[in-house]
Order: sequence, then structure tokens, then C-alpha cells
Amino acid sequence: MLPEIEKLLTLQNRDQKLRAVLTEIAALPGEKAARERELKAADDRLEAARSRQREIEIERKKLELEVKGKQDQIFRYKNQQLETRKNDEFSALKHEIENAEKAIVEIEDRELVLMEEAESLKPALQAAQEAHDAEQKKVETHMASLVTRRENLDARQKELEAERITAAADIEEDLLDRYTRLFKSKNGVALVTVEHGVCTGCHMQVNMQTHLEVRAEKEIIGCPQCGRILYEPQ
Ligand SMILES: [Zn+2]
Repeated sequence: MLPEIEKLLTLQNRDQKLRAVLTEIAALPGEKAARERELKAADDRLEAARSRQREIEIERKKLELEVKGKQDQIFRYKNQQLETRKNDEFSALKHEIENAEKAIVEIEDRELVLMEEAESLKPALQAAQEAHDAEQKKVETHMASLVTRRENLDARQKELEAERITAAADIEEDLLDRYTRLFKSKNGVALVTVEHGVCTGCHMQVNMQTHLEVRAEKEIIGCPQCGRILYEPQ
């Protein structure tokens, strides 16, 4: 194998690894966002499970205030009864007091129904809370592993960058330029083998002359179709 090809293959290997690492790093924010969405969805599910419970709480407070209002009314009516001398006014107040007492009984019945509903919601809420906590824990573990992965990838990136500098060090400048352009334009594959007379980069047959030149291993030969640098598999 031509020494230049050997050097370029080492460089391409480091560049491909570096490219994979950079691709992985670039995907991390998206993964983090996905985990955040999972967490938000878990929060929303729990919130939905709790919402009826909250409504019941609000409704119960409202009913308690209504009872209080009716009790105040009764208190006022009774005071008025003490002050009046008129029989018809006294019995009208008595009637009002009875109405208010009936209303209180009705309100308390409604409160009871709400309390029973709240009680019946408890197992579902418990389950929703547990599911939420489990989901949260899972996502947090995932997030922590993303941080570790990021650190490892950053370290690997530095390593590979240093290795590629070493690998590129004694490659002649024009050839390095040619390789670099190919690596960029050919999606990270600048050097490919010729197998059964076919360029494994573009999968086109190379002509006999080119194939012979590649086999001779005297100079750097490019694929006539795709331009990639060709070499014989060892
Ligand atoms: Zn080709």
C-alpha cells in the first residue's frame, strides 16, 4: 500500500470517529428537550387527575360559606322575633327561619355527596401520584446520564482532534486539501476500495486503465466518476 494512502486512511478513520462524536453531541439538546417533554407530560397527567379533586375542594368551601350565610340569617331572624310584638310578623319570621334551616340541610346533603366523591377519587389519585413519581425519577436518571455522556463525548472529541492533527502532520499539503474537500463533499468517505472492478464509493465500474493504476500503487488515483481516492483492499 502507498504510504500516503496508509496515512490518509488513518486520518479518515479519526475524522469519521470525530464526525460521529460531533453528530452525537449535536443530538444531545434534542434528547434533553424530549426528556423535558416527558416530564411535562407526566406533570400534566397528574394535574389532570388532581383537577376534579380541586374542583370539589372549591365547591365545598362555597357550600360552607352558604351554610354560614344561612346561619347568620337565622340568627338575625331570631333577634327580630325577639323584638317584634306583631303576631303576623313573628310567624313570617318563623317561616323564614324554617326555610333557611331546610336550605342548610340541602346544602349539607350536597356537601356529603362531594365528600363521598372526594373519597372515591383517592385510589386513582394515589396511583397517578405514584406513576408521576416513577416517571420523574426515570427522566431524572436519563437527564443525569445525558450529562455524563456529554462529558465523555467532549473528552473523546478532544482526543480525536489531537489524533487527527498527528495523523495529518506529514501528509503533503495538496493531497491533504484534496482529501479534506472529498471528506466534506462525499459525506465523510474520501478513500474507498475498488472491489471486483467497482468503486465502493459510487458503485460504478472503473475502467481497466484506472483499475490497473490503482493496483500498481505508484500514485494517488481518483475514481473517474465520483473523484474519491481509490485503493486496493489488502
Ligand atoms: Zn466512485
